[in-house]
Amino acid sequence: MNSSHSPRTGSGFTAPAKKQLGQHFLADKYYVEKIVMAVDPKGDDRLVEIGPGQGAITFPLLRRHPKLTVIEFDRDLITPLTEAAAPLGELTIVHRDVLQVNFTELAAGGQIRLVGNLPYNISSPILFHALDHAAAISDMTFMLQKEVVDRMAAGPGSKVYGRLSVMLQAWCEVEALFVVPPGAFRPPPKVDSAVVRLVPRDPTSVGINDRKRFADVVRAAFGQRRKTLRNALNGVIDAAQFEAAGVRSDARAEQLEVADFIRLANLPHA
Ligand code: SAM
Repeated sequence: MNSSHSPRTGSGFTAPAKKQLGQHFLADKYYVEKIVMAVDPKGDDRLVEIGPGQGAITFPLLRRHPKLTVIEFDRDLITPLTEAAAPLGELTIVHRDVLQVNFTELAAGGQIRLVGNLPYNISSPILFHALDHAAAISDMTFMLQKEVVDRMAAGPGSKVYGRLSVMLQAWCEVEALFVVPPGAFRPPPKVDSAVVRLVPRDPTSVGINDRKRFADVVRAAFGQRRKTLRNALNGVIDAAQFEAAGVRSDARAEQLEVADFIRLANLPHA
């Protein structure tokens, strides 16, 4: 089956889409404009776009903001991106796997703003990677599968509230912005997409004592989400700790607030 398309985006150049790199190029100017408006670049913002592709978002951003750094893994896109950007502004291209890019180093003591229509096959790893560098990021405007955005923004009691919701909401404010239909892309993905904004909280206000312990507790709690917490967290949290955290051990993970998980994980443990 041939998965390659050569779409017209009006963004300066076209290239065949590579499925293994999650390449679904945004081709609808209405949604490009909505994303650029959501980012709303200001004065000395340091914008970093993940996966510029054929530049659908890159070039409109560069027209608004004279400097932009992009991280792109596909070597076939580097030269065309460089050439098409030249008349517009200063584009710095980091030709690497985004998961290998140290955002803290990139921010060089300041903060960056992340933007991107993410490669959907690695969207969750990118989110967790960004969390590791949350102090160096002032905000993120990302497009992902709508189903993932629903999970990111879900609250307790929702069927899709889970590990991703708790981990992200502990470190960031999460706001789902708008839905983008498959027809806006070339080639169209099979699912709806959505744009989400994440604003990392001040790390000193998050209140998590030990990041790894927190991650372990949340993973274990949702690992068996149909079980009571007493069973799901057997060997991780004991009866006295439930008591001390003021959390009912006969509840299920999906009923707990983010703050409950933080209290449970902060308790002294063996
Ligand atoms: N921003 C473009 C647009 O909206 O049309 C392209 C978005 S496309 C969904 C995802 C982009 O991420 C592609 O350009 C792809 O080559 C790039 N990409 C995929 N995996 C990557 C990785 N590990 N590191 C950096 N870029 C990656």
